[in-house]
Amino acid sequence: MNIKSEFPATGIMKTFDNEDSAAYRIACDCHTSDHDINMWVELDRDEYNINVSFYVESYTPWWDKYFNRFNVIWKLLTTGYFQREHHTILNSQTALNFANTIISEVERLENVKKSKK
Ligand SMILES: [Zn+2]
Repeated sequence: MNIKSEFPATGIMKTFDNEDSAAYRIACDCHTSDHDINMWVELDRDEYNINVSFYVESYTPWWDKYFNRFNVIWKLLTTGYFQREHHTILNSQTALNFANTIISEVERLENVKKSKK
């Protein structure tokens, strides 16, 4: 592999950190911020596990001219649910930085965990 992880890292923005946790925003390569992934890496309350969690901020573009409100209403009326998909694209450099960020944070929190025992 010719690509090496970077610091600071393309596509990876640290949004929070303290001793027991850190949060990052992972940018979609298409530059639409609605596609970004939020990630938390944290030591759990009993300081036994390190958890990595992800979430996206999703919304329904109700008044967007390309959003078909009537199909959505019909789907809700006939099935009781409306399903949306979320896609995030990472180029190879960002994917490597993303993986390395998880590895670095897990290693850091393993050291924090050891120091508390
Ligand atoms: Zn995107």
